[in-house]
Amino acid sequence: MKVLVIGGGGREHAIIWKLAQSKNVSKIYCAPGNGGIADLAECVPIDVMDFEKLTKFAKENNIDLTVVAPDDPLAAGAVDAFEANGLRAFGPNKAAAIIEGSKSFSKDLMKKYNIPTADYEVFENSTDAINYIKANNKFPVVVKADGLALGKGVIIAKTFEEAENAVHDILDDKIFGSAGAKVVVEDFLTGPEISVLAFTDGKTMKPMVSAQDHKRAFDNDEGPNTGGMGTFSPSRVYTDEVAEECMEKIFIPTMNAMNAENRTFKGVLYFGLMKTVDGVKVIEYNCRFGDPETQVVLPRLKSDLCEIFNAVIDQRLDEIDIEWNDDACVCVVMASGGYPKNYEKGYKIDGIKQAESLGALVFHAGTKRSDNDILTNGGRVLGVTALGDNLEDAIQKAYKYVDLVNFENAHFRKDIGIKKEI
Ligand code: ATP
Repeated sequence: MKVLVIGGGGREHAIIWKLAQSKNVSKIYCAPGNGGIADLAECVPIDVMDFEKLTKFAKENNIDLTVVAPDDPLAAGAVDAFEANGLRAFGPNKAAAIIEGSKSFSKDLMKKYNIPTADYEVFENSTDAINYIKANNKFPVVVKADGLALGKGVIIAKTFEEAENAVHDILDDKIFGSAGAKVVVEDFLTGPEISVLAFTDGKTMKPMVSAQDHKRAFDNDEGPNTGGMGTFSPSRVYTDEVAEECMEKIFIPTMNAMNAENRTFKGVLYFGLMKTVDGVKVIEYNCRFGDPETQVVLPRLKSDLCEIFNAVIDQRLDEIDIEWNDDACVCVVMASGGYPKNYEKGYKIDGIKQAESLGALVFHAGTKRSDNDILTNGGRVLGVTALGDNLEDAIQKAYKYVDLVNFENAHFRKDIGIKKEI
């Protein structure tokens, strides 16, 4: 089977690393890929949003299966474009991808189908939003741009003034463009966050092992939000009891709700959850594999990923067993100094082979090749990943591997997986 993976980050590297182990996969292409993916797949320089070129490439190269990994092409209808050309593609169609693409859609869905989430209101007009915030008078309050804003569209406002500014920035000054046509104003919740990714074909829901992300740039959850500075799996708070609660109150109801809305979701549904004193609540849905959650979840998958993708497309997920190993897994993101703000690119990276020879899985995010060298080429550069017998073992190994990898101005958090939450 010939497979095309769309995307070019650490998540796509992890997906390709796993697909390469499948006995059914004979050749992998990746558009556009990166310096590490190039070891396992043929990288083709096509933009993830250029559906015409991507479908043409798939037809000309007899691709049997295309995996659309990032949110932007999914929200814009990449899977629909492949299907319209008679091609098989893994991922939700445009109608279903709205669960991530519009926060007002997902909040209204949860309200309509009684899926636990923070109380909220949606506004298109800044005066109405500000009057609501003033009348409600609960701080912090969370102000969210409706659409995709690269993880930057969520403002946790500690005071009325901060909330007022956030509303003006989004609705009046349009700092997120059309993603800010509406705002969601919601109650601030507290508790540990859990990420659960699940395979679903619209009939069956099979959650993967749990994970936890670290979104802030610096240790102790300080500094600005990033795309994710590291992850670990399993989450310490996702007990069997919590998993059961989530399945019953969140996962299955979400699948059924999307069916009832004629938006059957086929692909990976990502549940961003918070364990509050009033039970687990949904913070957000994503319509795809998370990055860097995928980097700690797929190394724990024992089953054939290509077989799972095909079962989802054909809606026969109920027929296959998905097995996981009992290891723990930790991914430490090594980023360019300055990320998520300004940073330099083009520095030579040393030590990857040495870390890999000791057992590291080094997933490339922002890298490129230049002759025999690997150079930095983005904000998040590498996800240095370790499997271990338990979390403590995996943490210790991951940091041992990180010590071996070097590039100018490298920045990474030193506390991935360390904080123990009750
Ligand atoms: P990303 O694209 O990075 O996943 P996003 O833009 O979709 O993020 P959310 O996941 O909704 O935004 O929010 C980002 C972060 O803000 C959450 O991981 C959480 O830490 C915090 N957050 C969001 N909503 C709330 C809430 N109601 N109460 C407390 N914290 C919240």
